[in-house]
Amino acid sequence: MADFGVCENQDCELSYHRQILKVLFDRIVAINNMEARQADILGMLPFIKHFESFFQFRIECSGCGRFLYRVIQPTVDLQSESEEYLRRSKLNDLLKAGYQLQAWGVLPFAS
Ligand SMILES: [Zn+2]
Repeated sequence: MADFGVCENQDCELSYHRQILKVLFDRIVAINNMEARQADILGMLPFIKHFESFFQFRIECSGCGRFLYRVIQPTVDLQSESEEYLRRSKLNDLLKAGYQLQAWGVLPFAS
């Protein structure tokens, strides 16, 4: 279980539905590739820092007040391309991105 949560409310500016998160995912891939080549990634980290508001160390979303999700949900039993599969996959992707940000020190760990 993550020590942060992510918002699922379609209408919330902090939810995992926001298109801008594509930028975050692309940058994570790029930084992972740099890491694989043993390049220095420190200069890249500020470019993902401003996404930290999507990962909230609280029970309810600061944007909309709804409960935040913090558990990776299984998708193996679901038909791929089904609505529920896509929903869980997007949610899981953002949670995993949060773990990656924590690993890079961009996002703190809850104390
Ligand atoms: Zn929200």
